[in-house]
Amino acid sequence: MSKINEKIKIWQKEKPGVPWFSFEYFPPKTDQGVQNLYERFDRMAPLDPMWIDVTWGAGGTTADKTLEICIHALKYHGLNVMMHLTCTNMPKEKLKEALDICKENGICNILALRGDPPGHLEAGAASQGFKQCEGGFAYATDLVKYIRQEFGDYFCIAVAGYPEGHLECTCFDDDMKHLKEKVDAGADLIVTQLFYDNPSFLGYVERCKAMGITIPILPGIMPIQSYAGFNKMTTLCQTKVPPGMLERLDAVKEDAEKVKDVGVQIAIEQCKDLMQNGTPGLHFYTLNLESSVMRIVEGLGLTPDSRDLPWKQSADQKRKVEDVRPIFWANRPGSYVRRTSTWNDFPNGRFGEFGSLRCAYGDFGFVSFAKDPADKAAETRRKMWGECPTTPSDVCKVFASFIKNDVQKLPWCTDAPAKETNFIAKQLIRLNELGLMTINSQPRVNAALSTDPLVGWGPAGGFVYQKAYLEFFCTKEMLDKIKEGIGKTSTCSYMAVNKKGRKMGNVNSSCANAVTWGVFPSAEIRQPTVVDFNSFMAWKDEAFSLWGEWSSIYAEGTESRKLIESVSDTYYLVNIVDDNFVSGDLLNNVIGWASASLESMSGVARKPSKDPTCVPEYSRVACHH
Ligand SMILES: Cc1cc2nc3c(=O)[nH]c(=O)nc-3n(C[C@H](O)[C@H](O)[C@H](O)COP(=O)(O)OP(=O)(O)OC[C@H]3O[C@@H](n4cnc5c(N)ncnc54)[C@H](O)[C@@H]3O)c2cc1C
Repeated sequence: MSKINEKIKIWQKEKPGVPWFSFEYFPPKTDQGVQNLYERFDRMAPLDPMWIDVTWGAGGTTADKTLEICIHALKYHGLNVMMHLTCTNMPKEKLKEALDICKENGICNILALRGDPPGHLEAGAASQGFKQCEGGFAYATDLVKYIRQEFGDYFCIAVAGYPEGHLECTCFDDDMKHLKEKVDAGADLIVTQLFYDNPSFLGYVERCKAMGITIPILPGIMPIQSYAGFNKMTTLCQTKVPPGMLERLDAVKEDAEKVKDVGVQIAIEQCKDLMQNGTPGLHFYTLNLESSVMRIVEGLGLTPDSRDLPWKQSADQKRKVEDVRPIFWANRPGSYVRRTSTWNDFPNGRFGEFGSLRCAYGDFGFVSFAKDPADKAAETRRKMWGECPTTPSDVCKVFASFIKNDVQKLPWCTDAPAKETNFIAKQLIRLNELGLMTINSQPRVNAALSTDPLVGWGPAGGFVYQKAYLEFFCTKEMLDKIKEGIGKTSTCSYMAVNKKGRKMGNVNSSCANAVTWGVFPSAEIRQPTVVDFNSFMAWKDEAFSLWGEWSSIYAEGTESRKLIESVSDTYYLVNIVDDNFVSGDLLNNVIGWASASLESMSGVARKPSKDPTCVPEYSRVACHH
């Protein structure tokens, strides 16, 4: 975890003139909401925000949740975190306690605020109910001073700025004077209140400069998510609405989706103008929604064009040396980081020598958030995964729909399939139709450029490689046929295990198989993703237990519940790697073996299963460059 002011300095040195961005979230009320937020972090983290920040309910009303989310985001989502902290209605000891917890957990960025009493925005309520605790603080400046006094330079401190003046300020000059006091007390950056009128912000920045304020000033951008929300917010906050903006929204106000589209367009125009006028970074109020902000970042051309590794590194300092992970948790990175959080050493490319990894994979104390799902959560999942499935083929259809993007997520995959999956989507759908339930895969890649938009990673000028990989659940009968097929090839290795721990395979359990590797200029070969037996056995417990997230959405004793439980109890979890990354055809081969299995079961010969329109290889992409 780095201090944001230091991270900004490094960024400006390495990428002069390139703006950065940050995302603000608030603590959701329910546990399910928090879980959804964590999933959102996983989806938004690849955009590589400079930091994310989490609001603090004035008076400490969200203290525990805000702290928990901040620690989680830092530890498990690879995000640099800034925690908001307000000082009104908060005794000094409580503030110290929160700051101590931050420090203990490696959080070193605080947005120091005064806070507002609840309902303060309602007409005539300004500053009503605001309390300075005995011995506590009246203004954000006091909090900044206190943090510096108690913690020296440990924290990077941000403060709030108001380009159009704070609501309570009777005189803009006084407001600016108080801002300067916050900066002089030790603030490192300013994040502003939301605004839509760029001249107000640019004028504010000029005034700050004239007063000798040289720290970065980040504009607060709030994408318009709904017509009513926009009107309410701008009225309550008395935000200036630039000419023409309301007319653009008025024209589409009956159509919620169009309002969002116009909101995205307005934000892109606003941010472009700010960037052209030298604004160093952008701060997005996400309102815990991802799609508009992600579209805006994309529309501004600010999405990162390269990844350091095929997976996102944790922002935790002690994990910085980590450079290899098992492929099994590719779709559940948070869970992997959690389960390995007590590791002091990380395998550094020699995964097979790390000893008994299985014991090291944390206790299998992982809690499925859906064990006791709230009615609403269960209802949402039933809509996604079926109201009353009665046959395994109903279940397979859900897996196929996930590949088609018709189902948003599966217990094993909290995010939509990776873009590279498009290259093998047809085969995956076919496999699910044939009775396999696929949960993880990658196409083979033979020397794609490291800058390739879909599979590239690492420094420019390199080449990346992948072995084809497939992971799925299937019946014992199907597995037997697949084993037979694998036996006839010399390049495929597999591991299989059922819930009770009955194992099969043709691999040496002490060896790791590198399934992703890269060759870079003047550097050693890197192999960030592996398949290995011990990790697979640790993953197996988690993979089978995730069926519980599905079965629990159906009432006890129903046919649907029994079906899902029986799949979980009887199916095997299987992974196959094809070492032939040059010309192997793993997926079509498995399709052939699975079809043969169905034929032998039904006694009916089917047409050859290879679909000539299937394009199994990614290697051709490299040739295009
Ligand atoms: C980016 C951002 C994030 C926010 N996050 C949160 C959050 O997580 N939780 C939350 O509850 N609220 C949050 N707020 C709202 C914020 O708490 C309110 O706007 C609050 O009214 C002011 O906070 P401040 O830190 O700017 O206060 P201050 O800087 O203390 O200023 C408050 C008012 O007092 C005046 N003032 C300052 N010093 C003096 C002085 N010495 N004498 C007289 N007057 C003075 C200022 O001019 C201003 O009018 C956030 C606001 C912003 C812009």
